[in-house]
Amino acid sequence: MKSSTLRSGLAAFLLSALPAGAADAALRETVASRVSAEYASLEALYKDLHANPELSLMEERTAGVVAAELRRQGFEVTERVGGFGLVGVLKNGNGPTLLIRTDLDGLPVEEETGLPYASRKRVKDLAGREVATMHACGHDLHMTVFAGTARLLASLRERWSGTLVMIGQPAEERGLGARAMLADGLYAKFPKPDFAIALHDIATLPAGTVGTLEGFMMANVDTLDITVRGIGGHGAYPHTTKDPIVLAARIVVALQTIVSRETRPIEPAVVTVGSIQGGTKHNIIPDEVKLQLTVRSYSDQVRRQTLEAIRRICRGEAIAAGIPDDRMPVVTSSENEYTPATYNDPALTRRVRGALTAWLGDDNVKTIDPEMGGEDFSRYGRTAERVPICMFRLGVVAPDVFAESQRTGAPLPSLHSNKFAPLPEPSIKTGVTGMTGVALELLAKR
Ligand SMILES: [Zn+2]
Ligand SMILES: [Zn+2]
Repeated sequence: MKSSTLRSGLAAFLLSALPAGAADAALRETVASRVSAEYASLEALYKDLHANPELSLMEERTAGVVAAELRRQGFEVTERVGGFGLVGVLKNGNGPTLLIRTDLDGLPVEEETGLPYASRKRVKDLAGREVATMHACGHDLHMTVFAGTARLLASLRERWSGTLVMIGQPAEERGLGARAMLADGLYAKFPKPDFAIALHDIATLPAGTVGTLEGFMMANVDTLDITVRGIGGHGAYPHTTKDPIVLAARIVVALQTIVSRETRPIEPAVVTVGSIQGGTKHNIIPDEVKLQLTVRSYSDQVRRQTLEAIRRICRGEAIAAGIPDDRMPVVTSSENEYTPATYNDPALTRRVRGALTAWLGDDNVKTIDPEMGGEDFSRYGRTAERVPICMFRLGVVAPDVFAESQRTGAPLPSLHSNKFAPLPEPSIKTGVTGMTGVALELLAKR
């Protein structure tokens, strides 16, 4: 009698030391069997989404499929929030509000995975061109995990308390959807979240694992156009011209010193000139040359400093080349296409990692490296409400393919590659279990 009282006292102590969502072996059993029971239908959903990708700002069918999933689970669903965005709300008593986001869009890529369920879809893009489409970034997998998580959480209502806001976001690949949904009143017309969570697949971790990172994970992304202007003329009479080709070349070289000479060495930054176009013929000096740049950074200060340095260098090199005042280079950066850096709130990320570890096992939770890619999930944490956000990564590579690549050093197909082929079953099951575990921790009955 006495020893069993002691044991249960000890068990209660141990349970209280664990993340609340993971404390209960019976709950873990229930989640595992629900995930197995739902899997066949989730795989069918995944293959349907995979075969029917839609481009950014055109996600009409996809949004309908995701909205129907949430409605079936008893969510109150609003469609057409910021374009084809959708918001599902499930109120379940007192407690915090958790936002979970999936993205919806595919890419103009012609799939070459050879999978039986590969996309053969062709659509007219917004410019009217016919293009092949593919879920080459795995947003189909995100939606499937999202649907599975909605099903699990709706069926486990007695195990959590609070409000779930599950959103399907359009146009992630264009960096436009999060801003459009926020501008359309995501935090005003719907319950304001206490935290926002998302996952994104990753092409460098095996299926069955996840990865987390505190702090900066993805970069500020700026897109710049520079028109270098000169005074054109005959290639044989350069002294009568101001040659924009030589000037553009000097600008490209000088831009390399922003990162190497002006930025604190421990602060990440990238300045890439991805396109240079000018001239028509061997013996004509053109009037102008066009440059296209992508600029990456983490901190707002490095971002500001880098953009200012680009303008200063363009102007300075033009002055050195003797370009008249009214022909100075024109530098335009589109705030519309700016994506802010993704900063994973450290305290929230520790809770997310704790839940993932409890639900998936220590060995399956990796620490990932920060990257200079971009993700507009960042915007949910950048409004006046300062909502803490956390995105974690979901491994999707078939374990044997992963091991072979580790052995040979041959790189795996990256996200956006036409050969990117996630392994569905362990990826989906791990995603649903992990996301459900995180939600149960954040919405645990206290
Ligand atoms: Zn992408
Ligand atoms: Zn993506």
